[in-house]
Amino acid sequence: MTATPTRRTPEPGSWLGIPAFPKAAPGELANETQRRNLRHATTTIRAKRVVRASEVPNWEELRTAGAQIKDRVGRHLDEYLVQAEEAMTKAGITVHWARDAADANQIVAEIAKAKGVDEVVKIKSMVTQEIDLNEALEAEGIAAWETDLAELIVQLGHDLPSHILVPAIHRNRDEVQDIFTREMGLYGTPAPEGISNNPEELAAAARVHLREKFLRAKMAVSGGNFIVAETGTLVIVESEGNGRMCLTLPETLVSVVGIEKLVPTLEDLEVFLKLLPRSSTGERMNPYTSMWTGVTEGDGPQDLHVILLDNGRSNVLSDPEGRAALRCIRCSACLNICPVYERVGGHAYGNPYPGPIGAILGPQLRGMEDERDRALPFASSLCGACNEVCPVRIPFTDILVHLRHKVVEYKTAKHPTVEQGIMKGAGWVMADGSHLATVQAGERIGGRVFRGKWLGPMGPIPIAKEWLKGRDLEPLPTQNFRQWWKKNREGGQR
Ligand code: SF4
Repeated sequence: MTATPTRRTPEPGSWLGIPAFPKAAPGELANETQRRNLRHATTTIRAKRVVRASEVPNWEELRTAGAQIKDRVGRHLDEYLVQAEEAMTKAGITVHWARDAADANQIVAEIAKAKGVDEVVKIKSMVTQEIDLNEALEAEGIAAWETDLAELIVQLGHDLPSHILVPAIHRNRDEVQDIFTREMGLYGTPAPEGISNNPEELAAAARVHLREKFLRAKMAVSGGNFIVAETGTLVIVESEGNGRMCLTLPETLVSVVGIEKLVPTLEDLEVFLKLLPRSSTGERMNPYTSMWTGVTEGDGPQDLHVILLDNGRSNVLSDPEGRAALRCIRCSACLNICPVYERVGGHAYGNPYPGPIGAILGPQLRGMEDERDRALPFASSLCGACNEVCPVRIPFTDILVHLRHKVVEYKTAKHPTVEQGIMKGAGWVMADGSHLATVQAGERIGGRVFRGKWLGPMGPIPIAKEWLKGRDLEPLPTQNFRQWWKKNREGGQR
């Protein structure tokens, strides 16, 4: 019997262990520390975003331009993808196409093996979360080290990210101190003896821990915020400089990029470089914006690969009402404004994309087969705050309602539901006056039997149990409207 190989990276939690939103939410709601951390963090970022957006006189026009550019990309995606592939290839980038997560993971692992490397450094990216790249590489004996501070906290904490931009938003500084003290030494340079919960000390420990990995790594893996189709330019924006280290030090760079990340021209890119930082971190511009077009001899990575990933995106594109979700530039403004997200946090969504964008993107990318995905369109109060802040004007509430409709269609196609039965019955009653009279006669008999008594919570009605949890049934009437009318209006007393 072969022994299970020892893990090289911290074992993360599992999305699979998280139940559907309605079951997961109460537990998360009860976590007071998390709620406090989330309220503090989202309130701060929200306030900064408002200030920065109000500084731009044509902010609303910029949002419209962002939406229109993204829609144009969706309408002509086939042409822009070919144009981008040609431009990147001409610039010396090897372009790969991946139909799904397994394809993309295999390509990354094969490149690493061909290069003879057994570890890679990573720039924070949502798309590699989406495809579980770290786990796939670990299974191939390749360690993937997260280099963004918040991602490092999540990775060392054997945890799951809970926010698009700030994956460790649910953690406070005491928890980070514990994680660093306990785990850093197991996977590289340990935290200094007696490290406190001071953010500067914690950041310094992370810097030392990561530096060793940056200097050793021969290969880096990134996502990509944008690809400019006309020039084949890849763009990554970040705040900590860890991305720039990954983009310049290793000899090989592999970028996994969703096919919706294209923008047609450099001029179009300008719109997003204004919208993104103000919407996400409340900054006027991103501290680091890296743009590279191919390989430059003697400078930076000498072997560049871009993996263009579908993984459900073409399905999303085929839905005229749902496709606007592909406009998303992952700024996280919708999470920071959402009252549901603020209270339950990111894990309850059971999806790497939490909050409003997760509620509309998750079920579209992954389909409705899993109960957790069917629950997501209902994980919203439909208050519409996300519509107001989204820099690319995604009509969340329309898409949520559309997806709810699709969930109902999915369910009724598989199993007739109680609601369907009730509606069928109601249809029969309303179709003919004699049917209605029959039902009303039964109702009157019931009314006389119960003699106007309030029926109270009708626990024994099994099919309506859930509905009746928060409602009571009124007493059954002893006469119907027609009888009342006859008696009181048609010749009866007034
Ligand atoms: S949906 Fe809009 S607000 Fe939410 S992350 Fe994407 S771009 Fe930002």
